[in-house]
Amino acid sequence: MVKSPAEIELIKESSLLVSKTLAELANHIKPGVTPLFLDKLAEEFIRDHGAVPGFKGYGDFPNTLCFSINSAVVHGIPNDTVVKEDDVLSIDCGTIMNEFYGDQAFTFAMAGVEMEVIKLLQVTRKSLSLGIEQAIVGKRVGDIGFAIQQYCEKEHGYGVVRELVGHGLGKSLHEDPEVPNYGRKGQGTKLLENMVLAIEPMINLGTRDVVSAQDGWTILTKDGRVSAHYEHDIVVKKEKAEILTDFGVIDQAIKKNNYLQEIVE
Ligand code: MG
Ligand code: MG
Repeated sequence: MVKSPAEIELIKESSLLVSKTLAELANHIKPGVTPLFLDKLAEEFIRDHGAVPGFKGYGDFPNTLCFSINSAVVHGIPNDTVVKEDDVLSIDCGTIMNEFYGDQAFTFAMAGVEMEVIKLLQVTRKSLSLGIEQAIVGKRVGDIGFAIQQYCEKEHGYGVVRELVGHGLGKSLHEDPEVPNYGRKGQGTKLLENMVLAIEPMINLGTRDVVSAQDGWTILTKDGRVSAHYEHDIVVKKEKAEILTDFGVIDQAIKKNNYLQEIVE
């Protein structure tokens, strides 16, 4: 589960390309655009940068992006429905570059999204940071999950999805260990220096329960309320985890796009 410095450099390149892809999408999100259009844009952008989409063909997933709108939690298949001015768009993207995966998700809020939902996005994004704070040598996987769960569930009353989890990352998209967004302090796999993890809280405004859609992919909240998803690829270090993906480029693109709302922690 531990990566060499050379491997980490390669994962970082792949991870950063995902961040740039999400930023490129943020330049083009507006009412009337379709998930399929953005999916095509993402695939071209990734291929233009010498990589290939990481999700396309993974377990027969048909597209470059997982595009999950409003009550869709994750794994939505891009289609030709039109994005509306009050939609919440969770976009998860993967790349393979130099044989290594990058994997990052960001939930975008259109300008018409109400404050109650913006708060959910802010809290979910902040919970990711709190989880990453725990990703240091000597801690355990349960410390990451505990931090996320405590903040989202106990402090804010949101639903923490149990069925889907973060993961190790490398030449495979999903490596050990699993990184749940819930857990007990001091429990689970010990974190070692240079483990690469994708940490990705999936947090619901209402119940934590989810159901599968008929398309066999999309995961929806059981109560139909909104869900949020933020993901970073990180390296476990002694003092402070190194974050390989970058929200900065995405935030900058959002700032310039009047159809999108900024999500600050
Ligand atoms: Mg992902
Ligand atoms: Mg992931």
